[in-house]
Amino acid sequence: MDLKTLIRDIPDFPKPGIVFRDITTLLRQPEGLRATADLLREQCQGAGFAPDYIIGMESRGFMFAPLLAYQLGAGFIPVRKPGKLPGAIHSVEYDLEYGTDCLEIHQDAIEAGKKVLIVDDLMATGGTAKAAAELVGFCGAELIGFAFVIELVALKGRDCLPDVPIISLISY
Ligand code: 5GP
Repeated sequence: MDLKTLIRDIPDFPKPGIVFRDITTLLRQPEGLRATADLLREQCQGAGFAPDYIIGMESRGFMFAPLLAYQLGAGFIPVRKPGKLPGAIHSVEYDLEYGTDCLEIHQDAIEAGKKVLIVDDLMATGGTAKAAAELVGFCGAELIGFAFVIELVALKGRDCLPDVPIISLISY
């Protein structure tokens, strides 16, 4: 199945000049959802990923990370926007095109030395994934790789990420 045909392009969202890759049209298709889950599992297994935990970033990372965690027999850990997690947190600020944003993780979410895979729907500049990798480092855990459904290759997000294997199912 060609997953790209299930992704809808929305011009000028969230602002003029941006073409937003909308994954809701892929998620709502039973065959598309199943194929995405199966491909993520196959590629992660092919890359030798055997994580203890899979991290997903709010909000669209939450749509894929638990799906993959279930398939790989790993636990799921949410990385959230500020002020959402109830326990003690580590937080990291990162740069956006204009201004900064922040991500948080529970301090006790990952035991030191555990193997962690970071999952998101899409990698653009790589800033979000890089911030999540820093949170993994704060926990003393071992980052083993990244998995994305979509990669916007021209933005070279890979170049700013730590030197671990990166898989993506669809490239633009
Ligand atoms: P980055 O930090 O790599 O520049 O941006 C990636 C983050 O922005 C991801 O968490 C992703 O959900 C979101 N994002 C940016 N552009 C798009 C897009 O066109 N489609 C979707 N689905 N998410 C996007």
